[in-house]
Amino acid sequence: MSTSDTIGPVKKVCVIGAGVMGAGIAAQVANAGIPVLLLDIVRDPADRNAVAAGALKRLEKAEPAAFMSRKAAKLVEVGNIEDDLARVAECDWVIEAIIERLDLKHALYEKLEAVRRPGTAVTSNTSTIPLGHLVTGRGEAFARDFFITHFFNPPRYMRLLEVVAGPQSDPALVARISDFADRTLGKTIVACKDTPGFLANRVGTFWLQSAVNAAFELGLSVEDADALAGKPMGVPRTGIFGLVDLVGIDLMPHLKASLTSTLPADDPYQAIAVDHPLINRMIADGYTGRKGKGGFYRVNREAGKRREAIDLISGEYRPQGKAAPIPGAAQRDLKALLALPGKAGAYAWAILGATLSYAAALVPQASDDVVAIDVAMKLGYNWKYGPFELIDRIGVADFVARLEAEGRPVPDILHVAAGRPFYRIEAGKRQVLGLDGVYRDVVRPEGVLLLEDIKLSAKPIIRNGSAALWDIGDGVAALEFTSKMNAIDGEILKLIGQAVPLVAKNFKALVIYNEGGNFSAGANLGLAMFAVNIAAWGEIEKLVGGGQMALKALKYAPFPVVAAPAGMALGGGCEVVLHADAVQAHAESYIGLVECGVGLVPGWGGCGEMLARWQGIGGQAMPGMPKGPMPAVSKVFETISTATVSKSAAQAVELGFLRPNDGISMNRDRLLADAKARALALVPGYQPPASPTFRLPGAGGKAALTLAVEGFRAQGKATPHDAVVAGHLADVLTGGEADLVDTVTEGDLLALERKAFLALVRHPATQARVEHMLTTGKPLRN
Ligand code: NAD
Repeated sequence: MSTSDTIGPVKKVCVIGAGVMGAGIAAQVANAGIPVLLLDIVRDPADRNAVAAGALKRLEKAEPAAFMSRKAAKLVEVGNIEDDLARVAECDWVIEAIIERLDLKHALYEKLEAVRRPGTAVTSNTSTIPLGHLVTGRGEAFARDFFITHFFNPPRYMRLLEVVAGPQSDPALVARISDFADRTLGKTIVACKDTPGFLANRVGTFWLQSAVNAAFELGLSVEDADALAGKPMGVPRTGIFGLVDLVGIDLMPHLKASLTSTLPADDPYQAIAVDHPLINRMIADGYTGRKGKGGFYRVNREAGKRREAIDLISGEYRPQGKAAPIPGAAQRDLKALLALPGKAGAYAWAILGATLSYAAALVPQASDDVVAIDVAMKLGYNWKYGPFELIDRIGVADFVARLEAEGRPVPDILHVAAGRPFYRIEAGKRQVLGLDGVYRDVVRPEGVLLLEDIKLSAKPIIRNGSAALWDIGDGVAALEFTSKMNAIDGEILKLIGQAVPLVAKNFKALVIYNEGGNFSAGANLGLAMFAVNIAAWGEIEKLVGGGQMALKALKYAPFPVVAAPAGMALGGGCEVVLHADAVQAHAESYIGLVECGVGLVPGWGGCGEMLARWQGIGGQAMPGMPKGPMPAVSKVFETISTATVSKSAAQAVELGFLRPNDGISMNRDRLLADAKARALALVPGYQPPASPTFRLPGAGGKAALTLAVEGFRAQGKATPHDAVVAGHLADVLTGGEADLVDTVTEGDLLALERKAFLALVRHPATQARVEHMLTTGKPLRN
């Protein structure tokens, strides 16, 4: 029997090593709904599971959260490797994440070999040890089921998973585990060859080191260095020194030691892996970055929380300065960046010339595929563009000419390109250059559908400045927000109005989806404030009424509507989600009705939709909700008045922003395909929902809610204006003036929402909150 015959679905996972990585990986497995056994050593004979149990406790408190829900945390069972190792036989995948020591890993594998079931995958999370060394001494069967799965920290949020299979690894098992990691854990799989540091850390470490070296050599300030190496290159704003502060300055010598000891002597990294006395001194004195006393940047509490930066020459802290402006930075114009006179252009070239040619030389040494290297850097280091995409932005010919002019080696793949770009669009498809000099289509994994790809070959059905409607095939249309932060404005509402009859006529279903970082930041407050400032109350009334009409038009459209949020769906964005027939959400969806935070109440039907689902009207009741009008009202009041935002899609279900039967996609790239499938499943016999009628507690209920708010006021937990806003919210949710109101229609609730919204928007304290949010991005507690 070959291993492939015994491969089943992954139903249970064992993670050995409950440190930073192991614990985080275990949490992500649990987030996917899969039970996980987390083992570590016995440190205290009297409390044998203490190490793993302690890790679980830390996980539950981690910030940003490691678990997506409380339910997930319950799926992690802790144990120890002395008493529980035989239980790996219950598991389909064993992930080893113990400390980076070959002798300890060998000893563990020897024990595992004796107890694991054949066909159970065993993978190592090693960052630096070659696979060949790891399987030394093990039998053939073990080597067949063994490979490397290299997660990034933190495992919940970092999407990259580097997979390294050895010559003996069973390809079917590698494919099976990779597929599980992709669909169920939400990771993007990048296959790597068994070379030191694999892809992301190999390029990333080189990049950081060359950028740090060049800043010292050129005598740049850290502010200027970070401004040049950050945004203009499509790198997170932290740039170089800010990033090193974030990950820990003390990590640099470790990375350096591991790579210099494993890379061949002629690898270009060896020549740049130099020590900087200032950095050594900072580490020795505890200046290890944000987690230590400070780093290249610090907040000096003794000097009134002054922001300071270190001077790379004198080694002294000084007040943080503003970096010199960089022309073309916003457009990430690399040609302009490299053409800058003086140190600025020299620094940009020092980084890009060295790092991009180093990355290019990894083909075919570390990977045959330029896409793999680009994806690794985009997902492992949050670069907007991968190294080959950056070379394309510079221009292959210009890049090569500059290397040649400086007498530097030109990597083979650049000769293969012979002046042509690595990527091109051909017949509506994105193509990439292969090692053989031939362009081929970039192939997405099966089940991945991206609007980004659709746009290469299609034009929108309709579009305006803030939204567009696309044909995504099989009779499904997709509504995309395109405004800044995907904030909802009159244009989006107008496009919804145009889309409904068009979809009804030409399509079977509609998906609301976009590929921005956030589904929607909510209604466009800037526009609303503009109207307030010129006292254009009629305009505001129109925006509120228009929004209500647009979202109800979606709700009662003669076709199914599926919302597919990812990232933030706040305020009006949340109300769009609430009005859909069904939702397919990315696991990382942060959903909430945050209007009270800016002194308003939801005004586009959010109150009624939340009440309907907590009262179980027209669908499944929320689990654990007692009968009668008041419990649901209290629950919704609590959620909305505190502007609660879910920290995951799973938590959005607990809060009622999603229904228990809504779908969750773990992999962001699979969201659109999953949403489309969900929409198509609703098509046969689709009937729009009936308009709900509510039974609400009226004035008595309002009195109870007001009393509770007064309590919070007395304890100092609610501000004076919180109480005003809560009063208006209570008016809406309890159904108005009457005592026990039996037949409140959806229209009545919409009218109450409009009235409360329009009263609050005129209130100076609300206007102060909105202004403050627009200028600082933070809520004002007035
Ligand atoms: P860590 O030091 O935080 O945790 C290691 C854990 O392993 C500790 O809890 C320790 O008690 C336990 N352990 C040690 N020997 C053991 C044994 N024989 N059996 C069971 N448990 C044992 O380390 P980490 O940062 O989580 O790294 C773990 C692995 O992941 C290493 O191989 C590392 O190279 C790799 N890795 C780390 C990162 C990162 O950013 N930290 C990223 C990717 C990969």
